[in-house]
Amino acid sequence: MLSFVISLLVLLVVLWALAYHSASAIAWSIVMGVTLVVGSVSGVLSGAIAGIVWFVFLAAVVIANVKPLRVALLSAPFFAIYKKLLPQMSTTEQEALEAGTVWWDGDLFSGKPDWNKWLAVPRATLSAEEQAFVDGPTNKLCGMLDEWKSTHELHDLQPEVWQFIKEHGFLGMIIPKEYGGKGFSAYGHSQVVMKISTRSATAAVSVMVPNSLGPSELLMHYGTKEQKDYYLPRLAKGIDIPCFALTAPEAGSDAASMTDAGIVCKQLWEGTETLGLRLTWEKRYITLGPIATILGLAFKAYDPDKLLGGETDLGITCALIPTNHPGVNIGRRHMPLNAAFMNGPNSGKDVFIPMDWVIGGQPMLGQGWRMLMECLAAGRSISLPAQSIAAGKVTSFTSGAYSRVRQQFKTPIGKFEGIEEPLARIGAMTYLLDATRTITAGALDLGEKPSVLSAISKYHATERMRQVVIDAMDIHGGKGICLGPNNYLGRAYQQVPIAITVEGANILTRSLIIFGQGAIRCHPWVLKEMNAARADSIDAFDDAFWEHIKFTISNAGRSLWLGITGGVGMPAPACAETKRYYQQMTRFSSAFALLADVSMFVIGGSLKRKEKLSARLGDVLSLLYLSSCTLKFYDERGQQKDELPLLKWALYDCAFKIQVAMDGILKNFPNRPIAWVLRRLVFPKGMTLIQPSDELGHEVAKILINPSAARDRLIAGMYLPNDENDIMGQLNAAMNAVVAAEPVEAKVRAAQKAGRITAKIQDAIFEEANSLSVITDTELALWKRARVLTKEVIRVDDFDKNFGLAAVQPTLRTAQYAEAAE
Ligand SMILES: Cc1cc2nc3c(=O)[nH]c(=O)nc-3n(C[C@H](O)[C@H](O)[C@H](O)COP(=O)(O)OP(=O)(O)OC[C@H]3O[C@@H](n4cnc5c(N)ncnc54)[C@H](O)[C@@H]3O)c2cc1C
Repeated sequence: MLSFVISLLVLLVVLWALAYHSASAIAWSIVMGVTLVVGSVSGVLSGAIAGIVWFVFLAAVVIANVKPLRVALLSAPFFAIYKKLLPQMSTTEQEALEAGTVWWDGDLFSGKPDWNKWLAVPRATLSAEEQAFVDGPTNKLCGMLDEWKSTHELHDLQPEVWQFIKEHGFLGMIIPKEYGGKGFSAYGHSQVVMKISTRSATAAVSVMVPNSLGPSELLMHYGTKEQKDYYLPRLAKGIDIPCFALTAPEAGSDAASMTDAGIVCKQLWEGTETLGLRLTWEKRYITLGPIATILGLAFKAYDPDKLLGGETDLGITCALIPTNHPGVNIGRRHMPLNAAFMNGPNSGKDVFIPMDWVIGGQPMLGQGWRMLMECLAAGRSISLPAQSIAAGKVTSFTSGAYSRVRQQFKTPIGKFEGIEEPLARIGAMTYLLDATRTITAGALDLGEKPSVLSAISKYHATERMRQVVIDAMDIHGGKGICLGPNNYLGRAYQQVPIAITVEGANILTRSLIIFGQGAIRCHPWVLKEMNAARADSIDAFDDAFWEHIKFTISNAGRSLWLGITGGVGMPAPACAETKRYYQQMTRFSSAFALLADVSMFVIGGSLKRKEKLSARLGDVLSLLYLSSCTLKFYDERGQQKDELPLLKWALYDCAFKIQVAMDGILKNFPNRPIAWVLRRLVFPKGMTLIQPSDELGHEVAKILINPSAARDRLIAGMYLPNDENDIMGQLNAAMNAVVAAEPVEAKVRAAQKAGRITAKIQDAIFEEANSLSVITDTELALWKRARVLTKEVIRVDDFDKNFGLAAVQPTLRTAQYAEAAE
């Protein structure tokens, strides 16, 4: 009996090893064959049962290894079912799915990420020219910006700021040098946008939009020679201001459902009958629209009279229309949460444009959606992540400094455990966001267009921005609430929802796009199966399908083993401090691959409608990517030990959230028996991961509230003027002064305790301490400077009773009401 149990155990281990290593059908056949021979010879297997087992085994061996038989008996029926289950996809859905490239997301989906390959990806760096631009014109621009004046008084940037932006080429960072642009790398572009964003969202958005998905980028990739030669130099120098209009009142997230239309027609144009389009559209929310000179417009083209001889329904098309063209209604403004960047609606009715205004000319009619989807990855990976990390840097700097300067209960508030919690979140999320921003921008510079990773970056950067801004507001109390030139948080707090909503609203991005697109694009076999079904190729399907099955079995084996061991022993880069995190991520990558596969098998095409499950699977993929970036970032910066608290907090948080997301998937999985089995494979020892500890949070908070090299690196790249007349410069000076004065305060408190000082009022206490030689004149001066700066920093703005707004607001309101009444 004992030998039977041992044999059975050995067999199970062998089978598990075959599954783990994704063994071929031949290997399975040999191992199973040897097992049966041993069983038969030893007598364990005998009689009629032996006959049945041998028959089943031999039949399985033949079917598995002889392709024509396998295809006829197994693959063909599966193929028929698969084709029926495969959801129908619109052309726009298919173009969105196929856009961009697969990068590290492919490794994360494989269940076996190759960490050495990941660390070998070259680090993003600035060229000398980019560095000079960041240190020169960008700094100068930041010094000119006055966000309060822009948002409260001018509702625009100062005219001299616009001039500076245009003259120095800020609007042409992505335009190649041959057209007079800067030709910056994605990372260089990201550094510039990030720095400006730490100063003014108005300026940042005004610079971001022409450098993001819009006329310049579309022209660079798809424009005709004439269009490029004419527009790109004008856009680079700011002679033309672009905007891009996709969103319509009834077509927001589902932008492809727009009703804006262009009818192919012939009309007299500059004296000759010309082939063109008669456009009718209504768009809203268009950034820079009110001041744009060139309108990029997306519409659906139709050719009802078959003037072009082919289809009548041509599809989404993009054109460039000068805004002074007769019939273009543009110039009115929305007021998005008090942001002062230009944003507004535009429309036109029966506006004729010649065909050569279509971007790329007539051959690009109907290609608009593909063009937009192909270009989306770049913009999404740069602008909003850069803006979000700017919020991280500003909140890390201001919350750390303010909570050191601001005292309550005779203690700097940053030393209270309650405040340490939000401080730790701010610091660690800033580190993680900087890592993700840097590495994703670096991927673009390597020629990638990572559509799934850019959606992850956009979603997680903006969500974490929301979190750190809320945390910073809590830390600042009333100081964050009262708006005015000295409030460096209020406008960010107001405007966070803008970043959440634009370039793919976040709920949609999380629920539909990240896993929905990732599962098809990044999975090693799913797209191959789908393509086989579309091409009706049973041969290709057979290859992909059985590899897919092996892949799933392998991940089940790996998931169980790595769940038991926690990934110990898995290959990982040789860094004592981070090795375990790599191993843990390998474990989760295998478990994720298993959960993703089983979800697709069980739920099939309707997974698209199971948005909550899809969102949680997307969370796991996202958190794996964020963790990967954080680990690589630490490595790229030379494994600086003083950054470890930031790294560890971020990774603990990600791992814990991965566990929560996986638990959510399993708890809500529609097939309960399968969910039961999956839980044993994914969490064989239960859910053992914990949130970042209080002690770790304390270490992170310490980085933020003390001047240190780690803090300097965390906030590097933000605009921090060395000027005490500027609130940010003042806050920095106050923090340094307070830290310098703390030993002085300690001496005075000790003297007070010892009963040596009799004065009761603070200033008098320190004067008396000085007169008693408890502190020197220099120390008294240090303390006084800290006190003056602290008072200045904790001050909030106050205004006349009517806020001085009487002249401005009614005018705006009257105009809006007037239109509504019409
Ligand atoms: C300040 C600002 C600037 C903008 N700039 C531009 C611009 O320059 N050019 C341009 O073309 N557009 C621009 N937009 C438009 C922006 O891209 C849209 O606001 C965005 O696409 C969302 O559309 P919507 O606001 O109509 O929201 P809706 O589409 O109505 O969405 C409402 C909510 O429903 C969710 N949702 C929708 N579908 C799903 C789904 N299937 N599953 C789950 N949730 C879903 C969304 O996530 C969102 O939370 C701008 C918008 C703003 C506010």
